[in-house]
Amino acid sequence: MTANASAPLTLFPLSDGLGSVSLVQHVGDDKMITNAARVSFGGDNLAPLSARDEKLIRYLLRHGHGSPFEHNLITFKVVCPIFVDRQVVRHRVGVSKNEISGRYVELEERNFTPPTFRKQAPSNRQASVEDDGTLDQEGAARVWEEAWRGAFGAYGRLLALGVTREQARGVLPLSLYTESYYTFNVRSLLHFLELRDHEGAQWETRLFARAMGELAEPLFPVTFREWRALHTGEAPQGA
Ligand SMILES: Cc1cc2nc3c(=O)[nH]c(=O)nc-3n(C[C@H](O)[C@H](O)[C@H](O)COP(=O)(O)OP(=O)(O)OC[C@H]3O[C@@H](n4cnc5c(N)ncnc54)[C@H](O)[C@@H]3O)c2cc1C
Repeated sequence: MTANASAPLTLFPLSDGLGSVSLVQHVGDDKMITNAARVSFGGDNLAPLSARDEKLIRYLLRHGHGSPFEHNLITFKVVCPIFVDRQVVRHRVGVSKNEISGRYVELEERNFTPPTFRKQAPSNRQASVEDDGTLDQEGAARVWEEAWRGAFGAYGRLLALGVTREQARGVLPLSLYTESYYTFNVRSLLHFLELRDHEGAQWETRLFARAMGELAEPLFPVTFREWRALHTGEAPQGA
C-alpha cells in the first residue's frame, strides 16, 4: 500500500493511482471511550488517558461492551471499484454513506484492472487462489480491456445519442470506480474490519478495509492495540 507524500492521509490500496482511501475528519479519542463508559457511575473526568483507562478499554473490548465505542466518528473518502463498494455498503449499522450520482454527472473513465488474475478456489465457492502458473494472464487482461473499452464506449455513444445519464450508465461494468464518503464510529469500524480484513473476504475489499484501519489506528491507538491483541491472541506491547 502506498501513501501519497503530499497528502499523507490518503492511501492507495490497489496501487493503481485511482483507488484511494482518505481520512476526511474525525471526532473523539480513546479518552472519550473511557468517559462514555465511566459516566455510568459518575466517574468521567478530564484527566489525560491513564493506565486505568487503558485497562478499562481492554475490559470493554474483551467483554463485548460496545456502546462506549460509538461516541466518535471517522469519515473516509473512498474511491473504489463498484464491486468493492457493493460489499462495503452492506455494513448497515453505525455507517453513513453518500456517493457520487451517475444521474447528476457523466461518469469518469476510471477502470480497475487486476494486476494479476486469480483462479477460483477449489473448496470455498466464494474464494480465490493465486494463479499456479496455469492461467493465461495476458489473455485475461486482453478480455478485460476489450470488455471495458466496449462498455465505456457504449456509454459514450448512448450519451451522444441523447440518452439520459441515468439510463446510459446501465451498460457500465462493476470495475468502474465510484466514490463515496463513509462515516463509521469505532464500534462499527472494528466490526467492519473483523469481517472485511479477514482471509475469507475478497482480496481487493480487504485492501480497502486495511487502509481504513491504518488511517483510524493512530486516532484511537489504545483501542486498536487492545482490539488487535484480542484478535491475534497476543499480549499488547507495553500494557
Ligand atoms: C466473507 C463474506 C462473504 C459474504 N457473502 C455474502 C453473500 O454471498 N451474500 C450476501 O448477501 N451477503 C454476503 N456477505 C455480507 C454479510 O452477510 C453481511 O451483510 C455484511 O458482512 C454486513 O455484516 P453485518 O450484518 O454484521 O453488519 P451490519 O449491517 O453493520 O450490522 C452490524 C450488526 O448489527 C446487527 N444487525 C444488523 N442488522 C440486523 C437485523 N436486521 N436484525 C438483527 N440484527 C441486526 C448484527 O449483530 C450485525 O452483526 C458476506 C460477508 C462477508 C464478510
